[in-house]
Amino acid sequence: MRAFTYTRALEAGAAVGAVADNAEAKFIGGGTNLVDLMREEVERPNEVVDINRLPFSQIEELPDGGVRLGALARNSHTANHPLVRERYPVLAQALLSAASPQLRNLATNGGNLLQRTRCYYFYDVTAPCNKREPGSGCGALGGYNRIHAILGTSPQCIATHPSDMAVALAALDAVVQVEGPSGRRSIPIEEFHRLPGDMPEIDTNLGHDELITAIDLPAMPFARNSVYLKVRDRPSFAFALVSVAGVLELADSHIKSVRLALGGVAHKPWRAHAAEEILTGAPASAEVFRRAAEAELQAAVGYEYNAFKIELATRTIVRALVTLTERHFA
Ligand code: SF4
Repeated sequence: MRAFTYTRALEAGAAVGAVADNAEAKFIGGGTNLVDLMREEVERPNEVVDINRLPFSQIEELPDGGVRLGALARNSHTANHPLVRERYPVLAQALLSAASPQLRNLATNGGNLLQRTRCYYFYDVTAPCNKREPGSGCGALGGYNRIHAILGTSPQCIATHPSDMAVALAALDAVVQVEGPSGRRSIPIEEFHRLPGDMPEIDTNLGHDELITAIDLPAMPFARNSVYLKVRDRPSFAFALVSVAGVLELADSHIKSVRLALGGVAHKPWRAHAAEEILTGAPASAEVFRRAAEAELQAAVGYEYNAFKIELATRTIVRALVTLTERHFA
């Protein structure tokens, strides 16, 4: 591991200033991904700025009925908070499906969004990887790509984003609050993560010196009928092969409102707009669900070992919608 300087920040401006002044500095919260990456020499900051003393651990109701999740609230605290469990069960389920209890006790909400891909070649510093070393190639394209993306890929990178939480946030239209040297700004979750394009080394639209302070969940009363389905190789402590976050509101037997997002299929949480368009206003039937899911996956491209994800994602969307419909009528 490269030697680094440790700085403990006691207020947000000082943390932002320290990272703004040093292009090789990184914020550290729970450190559950960053420390691993530093051990493997994938990340090599010369300074880490500890933000754990900053006052961003609260979870509180907003005046408009939404909920603000502090960036430093731990994933376990967030998943078990009554406001989250009652109003946004999809988020509680996504958080509890991730990692292990020990990791969830340490991992922060802000850090969860900034996890880096679990592509094997990204972690192997002897392998080519455009994300770790731009211009070096992509080991996964012609390699073992079972866990890789089927939507929104580029010839430079086919990695997936590993977060479950971010998939639920995409379905909930969350907004990320950040603070940087020029002040504060809000980033809709759909604009927070990037597709790889020609610059797979850049995962998000967050500046190097911008600090996540909170994640806002808008008021969405129908999100009480929501679900997170995660398909993975082991029943715990495994990343999603495919996941679906779904929120559904029915009026009689028709779909009044729907939100769907997919995990494990793209470089960012994949909001299923094509499926939502077909579903909105349509009768809640298995035939409509399948047609909507197929429309969403129409542009999917499989590689040698992951083509199975196309049908798997289609079926997981259908299963999520059937689950939500049955709950509504139960
Ligand atoms: Fe690197 Fe992306 Fe290729 Fe994986 S898929 S080896 S992260 S460039």
